[in-house]
Amino acid sequence: MRGTRTGVAILGSTGSLGRQALEVCEWFADTHRPVALAAGGNIRLLHDQIRRWKPEVVAVYRRSAARQLRQWLHAEGSTVKVLEGGEGLVEVARWENAEVVLVLVSGLAALAPLVAALRTGKKVGVGNKEALVAGGPALRQLLKTAPGALVPVDGEHSAIFQCLMGRRHEVDHVVLTASGGPFRDWDVGQLQRATPEEALAHPNWNMGPKISVDAATLMNKGLEIIEAMQLFDLRLDQVRVVVHRESVVHALVGLRDGTYLAQLGLPDMRVPLAYALTHPQRRELPIGRLRLEELGRLSFEPPDPDRFPCLQLARRAAELGGSAPAVLCGADEVAVRAFLDGRISFLAIARIISRVLEEHVIMKHPTLDQVAEHYRWAMHRAEQLVKEGDEEVRPCRPC
Ligand code: MG
Repeated sequence: MRGTRTGVAILGSTGSLGRQALEVCEWFADTHRPVALAAGGNIRLLHDQIRRWKPEVVAVYRRSAARQLRQWLHAEGSTVKVLEGGEGLVEVARWENAEVVLVLVSGLAALAPLVAALRTGKKVGVGNKEALVAGGPALRQLLKTAPGALVPVDGEHSAIFQCLMGRRHEVDHVVLTASGGPFRDWDVGQLQRATPEEALAHPNWNMGPKISVDAATLMNKGLEIIEAMQLFDLRLDQVRVVVHRESVVHALVGLRDGTYLAQLGLPDMRVPLAYALTHPQRRELPIGRLRLEELGRLSFEPPDPDRFPCLQLARRAAELGGSAPAVLCGADEVAVRAFLDGRISFLAIARIISRVLEEHVIMKHPTLDQVAEHYRWAMHRAEQLVKEGDEEVRPCRPC
């Protein structure tokens, strides 16, 4: 049953972005209805979401979790269809009654559903970075020719998207702003001893653990450089980064004649999520408003490549092109997980990624399947380096 409300599919509904997307759906309950949800394995939360939203279908990536959820739903007489595995996520991305698909899953698992959603001609909101970055030239080509509208959910890219409307041919370059993360004022000695708890305490944004660590290493901004190149068909030298502590200016677009257009607002992911749902319209949102007079000043400074080598590694991967960005993402995923698990030091994240990238033999034009293979190779190689655990990568134990 379609009804008059816009059907929404949310892939990654139990993650940080997915929960915020459902909050936005509460605000828009008169116009939008989540009809399809997908999650990795957090079936307790997904079960709550099913009770609240009564979607037509859900998918769970982890098969054992999908079976458990089916049992719970069966016991209470629910008729919600439960799909499983990667193919389940793809089916949710193509769900007929969903007119808007939000791809908010993190990591490589988003690639196949993203590609499927792009090919359907539906409107697609993308909050996943890894698939956009790793997808390489094949995905870039698909993004150029995709039948439906694509609306970025990543804050900076949503900002560029909004500034660019109708001006794509006038663009000289774009500027991504970076908060600098929780370690922006730390020296190398402090960074060496940085703990996962400290890395997760982001000063401005409310995000999941992987992206919070990426924000602390500035790899997040590095990935966003490649993401911008992919989304807006830009060269590496057309994407600049500036540290902006207040996270109020989300991005700028520099036009041919020297004019800059910027998008400003309080840092709140629900705003780009709402925009992806209502684009090209906007709706009133029940959130705080920016008051520049209370803020007083906005600051901008260049990033420090010595303390944050991940930014440089991402630029290197962008330069190499082809399969290199997929390798960058795969190695980063494993290194960040190892850091969160206390197996390697904070600075070892960059060392491991650098070594995996150096060893990789670039494939210039990988297919989407080959991209996934390179990604997994990088994960495997990074895991080996973590296990070898020479003193270069081991975490500092408190004396
Ligand atoms: Mg961002």
